[in-house]
Formats: sequence, C-alpha cells, structure tokens
Amino acid sequence: MARDTGPKCRICRREGMKLFLKGERCLTEKCAIERRSYPPGEHGRGRIKQSEYLLQLREKQKARRYYGLLEKQFRTYYTKAAKGSGVTGEELLRMLETRLDNVVYRLGFASSRAQARQLVRHGHFHVNGRRVNIPSYQVKPDDIVSMAPGSSAEQIVRDATDLTASVAPWLQADHDGLTGKILKLPERGEIDTPVQESLIVELYSK
Ligand code: SF4
Repeated sequence: MARDTGPKCRICRREGMKLFLKGERCLTEKCAIERRSYPPGEHGRGRIKQSEYLLQLREKQKARRYYGLLEKQFRTYYTKAAKGSGVTGEELLRMLETRLDNVVYRLGFASSRAQARQLVRHGHFHVNGRRVNIPSYQVKPDDIVSMAPGSSAEQIVRDATDLTASVAPWLQADHDGLTGKILKLPERGEIDTPVQESLIVELYSK
C-alpha cells in the first residue's frame, strides 16, 4: 500500500502547526515547529499571497497528512461522505476518525498514527477477537479492540500508553489489559483534529 514517506516535520512546518506525526519526539524540544516555525524551503520566510483557493487547499492537505492518507484515498472518503445524509464535513471527519489505525492511536496504543498503522498492518491487533490487519477498517460502536495474544509488540504498545495523557471521549481504554471499546461514533465536538472541514468541502465541491 502506497504511503507518504517524505520528511514528517517538513509537513508540520508547511502547515504551520504541530500535527504530531513522529510520536515521542513531538513532545520534546526537538520538535521542528518549536525551533523553526516558518514554512520549509528557500522562500519559506517570504510573503505568500493568500487566496481563497490556497486556504482551502492547505486545509485539505493538513487533514490528509494528519491522517496519513494519499490524495486518492482522501478523495474517496470525501466522495462517500458527500453521498451520506449527514453534514459532509462532519461525516468526512467521522469516517477518518473511525479508521482502525486512528482508533489504535486515539486509544493510546501507539505513539503516532504511522506507528499505529504499522502495528495494525503487522497483525498486532484484534477487533472483537478476530485479527484485523487493515488500517482503514472502520470500527463501529461496541467494537472491542485488543492486543493480539502473545504479540511481540506488547512492550512498544505499553511504552506508547505511558505517553498518553488522555483518550478520546468516545472511546474507553484499559491500558493495563491493552483493550479498548468504541462507546459511540464521535460527534464533531469530540474530534480535536485542527482543521476547518468546511474549507475542504468548498474545495472539493467546486
Ligand atoms: Fe511535527 Fe512531531 Fe516533527 Fe514536531 S516533531 S514538527 S509535531 S512531526
């Protein structure tokens, strides 16, 4: 499966905020945003002419990179969200939040979404007692996510739980037992993703 393998801190600097893409490093003073908070590149500190399109584009790029998706994957989520009966932007975020890799990260079982994705892909997690190694798997209310018995990644997951200050309110985590439950689908107010989804909808609906 294709994925973006470029420098992660550069992405945060481009979007002008911490997107927490590198796990523990993001919590330290080594974070590139703490040291160089201007955009990367030769003209990073120059003036950029803002336009409506640029704002919309940057918001979409930020959301896409926050969840670690390629353009085609992100667009597919938008298309599905637009077909639904709910508010498109909120539905888009809800679908992204309920991806299994994001849920593993939100439960505190990985220090970054990239690590969560790798752990899922390598079969270290079960959903309702069955191994699921598809990062895009959509969880549902009452699903139970748990560490696969005998997993060699247990220490990595336990280390990640030590870095976790809080768990999303729509989830319930047991960090000793390494299990988590999806209590319900998240409302917009329970998703702390730093994006204005309306700008993404405006961009794609042109
Ligand atoms: Fe972003 Fe983390 Fe790099 Fe800081 S350390 S710039 S939050 S990826």
